[in-house]
Amino acid sequence: MSPLNEIFAVYINRGGSAYGGERINQLEHALQTALLAEQAGADAPLIAASLLHDYGHLIHDFGAGAAGRGIDDRHEVLRAAKLSAFFGDAVTMPVRLHVEAKRFLCASDAAYAKTLSPASIRSLELQGGPFNSAECAGFIKRSFAADSVKLRRWDEAAKRYGLQTPALQHFRSYLEACLIG
Ligand code: FE
Repeated sequence: MSPLNEIFAVYINRGGSAYGGERINQLEHALQTALLAEQAGADAPLIAASLLHDYGHLIHDFGAGAAGRGIDDRHEVLRAAKLSAFFGDAVTMPVRLHVEAKRFLCASDAAYAKTLSPASIRSLELQGGPFNSAECAGFIKRSFAADSVKLRRWDEAAKRYGLQTPALQHFRSYLEACLIG
């Protein structure tokens, strides 16, 4: 199976699972995040990263609702490891860093911190809480940190119940443009 068919099959078969404690499912959340990236004029790798940022949630083995049971599934690391077989750093690094970007934003942007949903506040605790100032300074110097912060803002906004989005296939060309090898 081609990489994109394999990835899309995961979303088609498992994307109906709940997105954390939110009212939308994983596929809807992925599509809303990618749409926000597209509307913001992001390049293809960042749109691909936005679509795929929670891929690890769909392929992990902890079962649905892991965060609700106090388990941090480390989804961003799992996902980046798998996706790196198909995509380069411009896709995988924003994915890998998007949880740290949340810890950065919660420390550096009080308005952002106020937008967190209850489920997102709970997962922040499991992920280690807001960064301290030294951690913030170190984080923002890393490659792709700025892209991961953008992704993280779309991620937080992409939880709107009932929002109409394009279908998965709409985003295929962006992913295709980013395949390596
Ligand atoms: Fe997400």
